Amino acid sequence: MNKDYDIIIVGAGMVGATLACALGQQGFRIALIEAIKPDFNWPVDSTDQRVSAITVASQKIFESIGVWESMTQQRVSPYQEMRVWDATGQGAIHFDSADLGVPLLGHIVENRVTVFALHQQLESLKDVRFFMPETITGFEVDDDNAQVLLDNGQTLTAKLVVAADGSRSKLRELAGIETTGWSYHQHGLVAQITTSKSHQETAWQRFMPDGPLAFLPLSDGSSSIVWSTTPEHAEELLALDDVAFLDELQQTFGDSLGRMLACGPRAAFPLRMQHAKTYTQPRLALLGDAAHTVHPLAGQGVNLGLADAASLAEVLVSARQQRQDIGLHKVLRRYERWRKGENLAMIATMDGFKRLFGSTKPALKWLRNIGLDLTNTTPPLKNLIMRQAMGLEGDLSRLAKGESLKGER
Ligand SMILES: Cc1cc2nc3c(=O)[nH]c(=O)nc-3n(C[C@H](O)[C@H](O)[C@H](O)COP(=O)(O)OP(=O)(O)OC[C@H]3O[C@@H](n4cnc5c(N)ncnc54)[C@H](O)[C@@H]3O)c2cc1C
Repeated sequence: MNKDYDIIIVGAGMVGATLACALGQQGFRIALIEAIKPDFNWPVDSTDQRVSAITVASQKIFESIGVWESMTQQRVSPYQEMRVWDATGQGAIHFDSADLGVPLLGHIVENRVTVFALHQQLESLKDVRFFMPETITGFEVDDDNAQVLLDNGQTLTAKLVVAADGSRSKLRELAGIETTGWSYHQHGLVAQITTSKSHQETAWQRFMPDGPLAFLPLSDGSSSIVWSTTPEHAEELLALDDVAFLDELQQTFGDSLGRMLACGPRAAFPLRMQHAKTYTQPRLALLGDAAHTVHPLAGQGVNLGLADAASLAEVLVSARQQRQDIGLHKVLRRYERWRKGENLAMIATMDGFKRLFGSTKPALKWLRNIGLDLTNTTPPLKNLIMRQAMGLEGDLSRLAKGESLKGER
């Protein structure tokens, strides 16, 4: 078995698998290392606890690499509207895709549906080889190659190694790349909730002093919630029985969706802002949560990672066309320059929102309520925010525009 590859990608989650698809389709020889073999035999009537709001730009990326159709055949849930309001005042904002003349704002997709479609596509690519379940224990670089040592003692060699192994990236640690960041002092509690009223294909979000509570519409009529709150409160909520939990949820969210009728299993995740000090070194690139994590309040985390994957793929294809070594730092720096500024801007926006809506200071409470109402009644500003939330602003990659990967960058 040939142990030499063009690229070794560590992590076959939504972001790493997307990169592997995009590059495998271009004839790059890829080793894809994933620690956990996903179980795709889920019961038909079950729903993944983890869902993501997938932007229109990310949908385009999935379409470009040929996995979107498989995702829609499984289950995706479109939403046309978004309603956001502040629990401590009258301020509210209503986003409607009709105002932009487009059919929808995005889709809510179960994470396992995305990973399944990507892995299915990868199985059909002759230049992609899975190492799964497998983890890495070592990483070394010389002038010409990078080497990755696997837990089973095997060594793999490639021109470039990519870290897509999530927020606690082992590869980032082995490469000695530091991160900046802080805890949001919140946990995101997730669960599937059945309500007496229809969700109206709308994403709902109520800002509480302890954090936002979002209801994301699912195709069976139920909603997936992300309830960001203090770690202590999240623990209490996890310990309640279903009836008591639904009662507290009702009191917090109000009756916009009628009565809270039923609830699936609950889980909570600590929320952190984290940003890698650098995304690249010679023969190494970081992307997705390995490079950055943001607050889930605007549902942007994986969308930023998918934009990273599409941009890195474009840079590498362009470098190969110009007969450049794809592991050279000057090549990888093009990817870093492209993505770091855009990711930082989103991190700063999410952080600002979190602080503004978490404050109990009267001046800030006044400001955010005025701000919500003003934005709601200023169509150009509102439309710009909508386009940003759909991933349609900024320096878009070819894949996000539905174009072929080939071309100069
Ligand atoms: C409560 C909550 C709600 C969210 N909602 C949204 C949303 O609505 N929209 C959105 O865009 N984002 C959302 N996010 C963020 C989103 O889930 C992440 O940004 C996304 O999962 C990151 O994808 P990734 O592939 O980079 O990393 P991961 O999903 O963490 O995948 C990393 C992969 O690497 C593997 N791995 C880890 N270590 C190793 C190793 N040493 N060797 C080999 N493999 C390894 C893991 O098994 C995993 O498969 C949410 C996050 C939370 C916590």
